[in-house]
Amino acid sequence: MSATSGAAAGWRAARSNKGTSPPVLFVIDDDAGVMNALRDDLGRRFGRDFRIIGESSAAAGLAVLRGLSDGHEPVALLIVDHDLRGMTGVDFLARAHAMHPLAKRVLLIERDYSAYSPVVGAMMLGQADYHLTKPWLLEQDLYREISWFLAEWAKDEQAGFELFRVIGGLQDPGTNRLRELLIRFNVPFGFHDAGGEHGRRLLRGRGLDASRLPVVIRHDGYTMVDPTPAQIIEATGGTVSSDVGACDLVIVGAGPAGLTSALYAASEGLRTVVLEESVSGGQAGNSPMIRNYPGFPHGISGHDLTRRACEQAWMFGAHMVFSQPVVGLESRPRERVVHLADGHRIAAPAVIVATGITWRRLGVPRLEALVGAGVFYGAAGSETRAMEGRDVYVVGAGNSAGQAALHLARHARQVTMLVRGDSLARTMSDYLIREIKATGNLAVRLHTEVIEGHGDDHLEALTLHDKLDERAEQVPAAALFVLIGGEPRTGWLPDAIQLEHGYILTGRDVVPDGSGRAPLPLETSVPGVFAVGDARYRSIKRVASAVGDGATAVRLVHEHLCAEGGRNL
Ligand SMILES: Cc1cc2nc3c(=O)[nH]c(=O)nc-3n(C[C@H](O)[C@H](O)[C@H](O)COP(=O)(O)OP(=O)(O)OC[C@H]3O[C@@H](n4cnc5c(N)ncnc54)[C@H](O)[C@@H]3O)c2cc1C
Repeated sequence: MSATSGAAAGWRAARSNKGTSPPVLFVIDDDAGVMNALRDDLGRRFGRDFRIIGESSAAAGLAVLRGLSDGHEPVALLIVDHDLRGMTGVDFLARAHAMHPLAKRVLLIERDYSAYSPVVGAMMLGQADYHLTKPWLLEQDLYREISWFLAEWAKDEQAGFELFRVIGGLQDPGTNRLRELLIRFNVPFGFHDAGGEHGRRLLRGRGLDASRLPVVIRHDGYTMVDPTPAQIIEATGGTVSSDVGACDLVIVGAGPAGLTSALYAASEGLRTVVLEESVSGGQAGNSPMIRNYPGFPHGISGHDLTRRACEQAWMFGAHMVFSQPVVGLESRPRERVVHLADGHRIAAPAVIVATGITWRRLGVPRLEALVGAGVFYGAAGSETRAMEGRDVYVVGAGNSAGQAALHLARHARQVTMLVRGDSLARTMSDYLIREIKATGNLAVRLHTEVIEGHGDDHLEALTLHDKLDERAEQVPAAALFVLIGGEPRTGWLPDAIQLEHGYILTGRDVVPDGSGRAPLPLETSVPGVFAVGDARYRSIKRVASAVGDGATAVRLVHEHLCAEGGRNL
């Protein structure tokens, strides 16, 4: 199914349930010729499922949008020329978006590859979601772009098929963990509060009550009470155990680095098994928006990016096993043996370790107890929408913290970044600092630490300590997002693998063992074991570099196999 037909089908289904009118694609350009041409082009392709409205003056356009808002008529896209008479396109988008906050904002611009183009600042400051250039040469290009925007809009609308209905508690950590897992595994689901009338009705219909939550009902009626991640993954058709005893290459970890290795290895004919302790995606899978990955000028959610890579690796024939932690690695002559948590073992002449890093903890016991109930490690994913109108805090001063805070500011009433040091400049990219300064509901408190959390079953308040004036203050808080750096996930590796601060040494960093062996560039101190991505010492901690490592390692695996007299290229 194409993105458009998926979005449209989802919308049709939702519309027939809600009885609402078709969503609007709104176009405005002072040049009536441009406006008419765009409106007609859009109408030809999308007219069946969307109402196309065109205007050629800012005042008339705003009046139409106000009418739609008063009538609760949904707007999917706001396509606005950047240079309207009497108002910039960005200002128009801001006013229009206030009336239609779920609409995707598209700036219509002339092609201009200079840094002065209005779209550069607008995208950077989060004032537009996408751009279209005019004139658009090929209708197919236009349709492909619009289809993508609509698919993203439909995702936010949550219109469409639900594989699972989840009945749980709003502040229940188990329910939150489950929702996070479903989102990361790309499973369409609907959430129903167990305390609400509909939730109670769903439970009664299965002869259950709210004493054990969450309850998950699959579309065919199959019901699970407080399921494990493995049960959920199995219920969606995923594999959670391996029946493979030997292969050419085992990859541990299915973040960007591991997935890329899997894709290249499988596509080059290596029998490849990927073992992942959770679901695919790694840290990137938790990132709401990656803007610096090549090829995605409007950015891409880390979840989408890694989901596609996973699908691609699988299509090339990689054997993917989820919810299966690797707990040990053994070296035997000419082969390595990987130990799985379920007791299974897999032998292979080469292993790629791509286990990444995990976030550091705050170490405040009350806050640790509230993880999943208002306290979240890593960026906001599923939680973001729930922050509508609330006051939330972000701890951290790196790029991840900055991105998370900006993302949250789109929904929350007020976002406050808590920074221990005296500036962001040493740890955060300049473009993010500028974006933060330009965001009205985002504040930064320097020299500040969180020293206590408050709330019984969910976070209600924080105690903040200002290190400069030695003052403690309690502030109400709906949520706390902690992004304070990570620890490499290498504790399961044998001592023979050399580490530095937990990161895996490779290539020239490996301390010579006197054997005269020089490891290949991404090879560890154990021949045939390679390390890629964030877990590797001196890695760059970026998706693109993890991907680069992943691809490079496969070439080196081939070299290792040839040197060992095994498979040929
Ligand atoms: C919130 C956030 C935002 C980010 N934004 C950006 C950005 O905008 N641009 C950018 O370039 N980078 C960004 N990054 C950094 C980027 O996501 C990482 O650099 C990248 O994900 C590293 O990839 P990786 O495959 O090495 O490790 P990871 O992504 O950490 O993946 C490692 C995988 O290994 C699995 N694993 C760990 N131990 C085991 C085990 N024992 N057995 C089996 N599996 C195991 C984990 O479950 C995980 O899935 C961001 C990171 C975060 C957290």
